[in-house]
Amino acid sequence: MFEDWPRVSARLKAAGHLGLFLDFDGTLAPLEARPEDVWLDRRTRRVLRRLARHRSVTLWIISGRRRADARKRVGVRGIHYAGLHGWERAGKTPLPRRVRRVLTDAKRQLAARLETLPGAWIEDKGLSFTFHYRGASNGTFRRARREVRKVSERFRPDLRVLPGKKVWEVLPAEVQGKGAAVLALVAQFPQPALAVYVGDDASDESAFRALPDGITVRVGRQRSTQARFRLRNPEEVREFLAKIVAELS
Ligand SMILES: [Mg+2]
Repeated sequence: MFEDWPRVSARLKAAGHLGLFLDFDGTLAPLEARPEDVWLDRRTRRVLRRLARHRSVTLWIISGRRRADARKRVGVRGIHYAGLHGWERAGKTPLPRRVRRVLTDAKRQLAARLETLPGAWIEDKGLSFTFHYRGASNGTFRRARREVRKVSERFRPDLRVLPGKKVWEVLPAEVQGKGAAVLALVAQFPQPALAVYVGDDASDESAFRALPDGITVRVGRQRSTQARFRLRNPEEVREFLAKIVAELS
C-alpha cells in the first residue's frame, strides 16, 4: 500500500465523499487467543476520532461481532457500527423466531459433539455462534470439520457456515455477509463517493469483490486476496488511517 501512495493519495484527494469501512479484529486491533481480550489502543482511537469528525468522511466499523460489542470496544462517537458481518445495523428488524430456534438446535447439536474436544470451544453470539479451534490438534480439527459440515448440511438452507481465522461461524442465511452489506451502505453515500475497505479475514473477501472501484486492503500475510492493496498488521492500518487524515486536512 505505502509504495503506491501517490496513486492512492490522488484518488483520496479527488473523491467527493469518502466511505471508510473498517473491520475490527485483526484489522484495527491485533487478534488474541480469546475475543474478549481484543481492545483498541489509544493511538488508533485518536485517529478514528479525527476521521469520524471529518465532514466528508462516513466511517463504518463492520465486524463479525455483535454490534453492541463492536461499539463498546471502539467507543468513538460519530462512527457507524454494523455487527454480524454487516447485517446488524441500527433499526434492523429482528430475525424470525423460527430462525432463532433453528440456530439454537444447531448449536446444541454441535456443542454436544464438540465441546469436550481439547483446544476447541463454542462462542455464543446470540444470533450466531462461532466454533473456535485455535488450540486444537490436527485430529481434533478434522473431527470438528466433519461435525460442522454435518450440522450445516442438516440445517441448510436456514443456516450457513462462514470460515475465518481458526474459526467457523454458523449464521442464519439472512446474514449475507460483508459484501452485501457494503453494497447497501455505499448506495446511501452522497455521490460521487470513494469506498475504502480494510479487513484481514476470509469474511472480508466478499466486500473486496463488491468494491472493484474502491481502495480495498487486506491486512496480514494471506497470499490470495481480491483486495488491491496490502498492509502487514494493525499498526500499519493505523499508519494508513493517519495518512488519510493528513491527506484530507
Ligand atoms: Mg477481522
